[in-house]
Amino acid sequence: MSGGNGKSYAMETELVLANHKDSFNSSIVPLYQSATFKQPSLDDMGEYDYTRSGNPTRTVLQTHLSKIMKAEYSFVVTSGMTALDVICKLLDAGDEVIAGDDLYGGTDRLLTISQYDTTNTKLIKSKITKETKMIFLESPTNPLIKVVDLQKITDYAHEINPDCLVVFDNTMMSPVLLTPLDLGVDIHYESATKYLNGHHDLMAGVIATNSKKIADDIYFAINATGSGLAPFDSWLLSRGLKTLSIRILQQQQNAIKIAEFLSKLGLKVRYPGLKEHPQYELHKSYTKGPGAVLSFETGSIEISEKIVSNCDLFGITVSFGCINSLISMPCRMSHASIDPAKRLERGFPEDLIRLSIGIENADDLISDLTDALKIAGAIKEVDGNLINLLK
Ligand SMILES: *Cc1c(COP(=O)(O)O)cnc(C)c1O
Repeated sequence: MSGGNGKSYAMETELVLANHKDSFNSSIVPLYQSATFKQPSLDDMGEYDYTRSGNPTRTVLQTHLSKIMKAEYSFVVTSGMTALDVICKLLDAGDEVIAGDDLYGGTDRLLTISQYDTTNTKLIKSKITKETKMIFLESPTNPLIKVVDLQKITDYAHEINPDCLVVFDNTMMSPVLLTPLDLGVDIHYESATKYLNGHHDLMAGVIATNSKKIADDIYFAINATGSGLAPFDSWLLSRGLKTLSIRILQQQQNAIKIAEFLSKLGLKVRYPGLKEHPQYELHKSYTKGPGAVLSFETGSIEISEKIVSNCDLFGITVSFGCINSLISMPCRMSHASIDPAKRLERGFPEDLIRLSIGIENADDLISDLTDALKIAGAIKEVDGNLINLLK
């Protein structure tokens, strides 16, 4: 079968090549919707016995993901939060852990640990000690779109404590734009609910590492708790994954146009693809692109609510990474679980609107936003020019 010769190809090619051993030579990976597997004999367990411990459909997906994530080992679990929960099981009670202060809302809810502005490399360095066992990083953060100096923090943490595990949430970039294990990160995880699958028809999480010890511990936790991804979801994710590159590149191309449109209107836009982003150069230095999530402010919660409510193509939806464009107000939706006082302290604008750009036609998306901005009273058209009314 093509791609079975052990040769490595470019990302776009690897994404569509998933090797499997099917006795009928099926073109795509077969779905083994079976909880159990018969043993060849009483003395021989065979390759698979029980789906909680292993399933051929899941194995094919994991092998495929290892190639995509440039990892020795990878695992798929029932959601991104499950991935984080499994990783937390590598810790012992009382271990010193550091995390960023603009992490995903659900991560924030799960972790009650020291959180700092991880874009402040100097500050983070001052917090890392020989006792630090784990560091959680995410970049660009969501929805404030802050960029972390991943290489510097990873190198410094390993210098201070070679056993410190640097854990990176790569959900916003996906392996098409960043493979963080290449930068020396110990564990790369992602919510596959977002870009990896891309169609919002399943929930999944992936964990990847180059360390056999970490991989063994992670497998132990997954097998012991039964958090491995179900066969059907593994099969669906295998299908979604094949179009990852083409989706991301189209979404990113659209996002760049939309960010430029909003920025030209004089709105405060947060997007690492705009030169005005304070960490434009840093982000560019270690990723292959700015991605397709951006946020902007209007200065008024009421106007923001009206914009969100009056879009037609942008669905009011939590989450991101779908082929369809999505719009949300994080303070009212995904980040509502963060205490309002904590949001204020972190400089979280309550009027912030987040856009996750899909694969639609960019002009249609811009026209949809223009209509919503007009209805909300944020802009008006004078002699064919759009005038910002918010200033
Ligand atoms: C969505 C998300 C998660 C959680 O993943 P689920 O699949 O929803 O459990 C974790 N991190 C980031 C950055 C996310 O966007």
